[in-house]
Amino acid sequence: MKKFDPAMAINAVAETSTERGVNPSINDSATFCFPYGQTMTDTFHGETEGFFLYSRHWNPSNLALSKALAAMEGTEAAWVTASGMGAITCALLHCAKKGDHIVASTTVYGGTYAFLKNYVGRFGIDVTFVDTTNLEQVKEACKPNTTVIYTETMSNPLLRIANVPGLRKIADSLGAKLIIDNTFTPMIFPAYHLGAHIVVYSMTKFINGKNDCVAGAICADSEFINSMIDVNNGTAMLLGPVLDSFRSTSILKNLYTLHIRMQQHSKNAMYLAEKFNSIGIKANYPGLEDHIDHKLMKSQMNEKFGFGGMIAIDLITTERANQFMEIMQNKGVGYLAVSLGYFRTLFSCSGKSTSSELPEDVQKEMGMSEGLVRYSVGLDNDIEYTFEQIKDALKEVDFI
Ligand code: PLP
Repeated sequence: MKKFDPAMAINAVAETSTERGVNPSINDSATFCFPYGQTMTDTFHGETEGFFLYSRHWNPSNLALSKALAAMEGTEAAWVTASGMGAITCALLHCAKKGDHIVASTTVYGGTYAFLKNYVGRFGIDVTFVDTTNLEQVKEACKPNTTVIYTETMSNPLLRIANVPGLRKIADSLGAKLIIDNTFTPMIFPAYHLGAHIVVYSMTKFINGKNDCVAGAICADSEFINSMIDVNNGTAMLLGPVLDSFRSTSILKNLYTLHIRMQQHSKNAMYLAEKFNSIGIKANYPGLEDHIDHKLMKSQMNEKFGFGGMIAIDLITTERANQFMEIMQNKGVGYLAVSLGYFRTLFSCSGKSTSSELPEDVQKEMGMSEGLVRYSVGLDNDIEYTFEQIKDALKEVDFI
């Protein structure tokens, strides 16, 4: 059987504008008119095709982007949100109600952790955090009322890899949904084909790749997406985190270069990881054979796109990490900034930024050092030069 190719799948979605422009038109309307009163009523009940009701529900620009994302993921449908957190919170709240229980990974993105730890309790939803790379721990944490297992395919910032088929088996044994955040690894992990029921993305990162907006996506079967935008009970329809159509249109154009960008991010990250190791600095990168999940990643990934653009090294103390990052920024290596998936290299000290929502004892328990510097490696054409600059910065902080 031919291997699923997400880039070719996107290419097969040919959407032109009504005037035959090669890009779909931006549809700049919040509301849409109907030829007949009955058509409006039928659309409200979800019983028509080809009609749009109101932009919080659907609009043609969001539909064009959603079709391409569904093709990339191999799902029947997708729905686009105004942020990754909009996608994550809606998907979670749609799958868990009062009295339900969620099993979630401790190492999820800080915002997701804070939502699960501090927020969902007010809806009567209970959460147990576990190391989701340990399937026994996941099984033990599950209860008869568990309706969701939640994890990231590649965790932040330690870059551990989820065993998606293993987690799916556990979810199926309970009738629960497996929700996977695939933000770090679009195209690399075919998360839906591997077994996720629902795949969520922060499109702010690699998918858009330009750092000019925040956006998110939920990819799943049509039944789930339609239920999320049901006018009476749909979490997305009622909470309303819809993406603006101008942004949908610009993200769609960027999606068509994602496969090339992922390959370059991965190539550059692999180069840096090997170089760090060659100078005696242990790089945390799943592309290296000594990474704890290297084999597991290989067994699930689409190798064409490499091992991803994320890499971490440990500078031991926050003070040294900060000094090092400031020097790198001054040398033009990239920016001391949170986020990832940008064409320039970004770096941050995880424990003091994107994972700072995790209490310090939890950080320690999961093996996150206070001096861990996470890189989102950019698309640099001369990565050899970039490494020389990084090496000089390491010398300046007396680390080599
Ligand atoms: N998921 C992951 C893995 C992230 O790193 C982020 C980052 O910010 C989010 C979700 C949240 O996305 P957004 O900032 O687009 O709301």
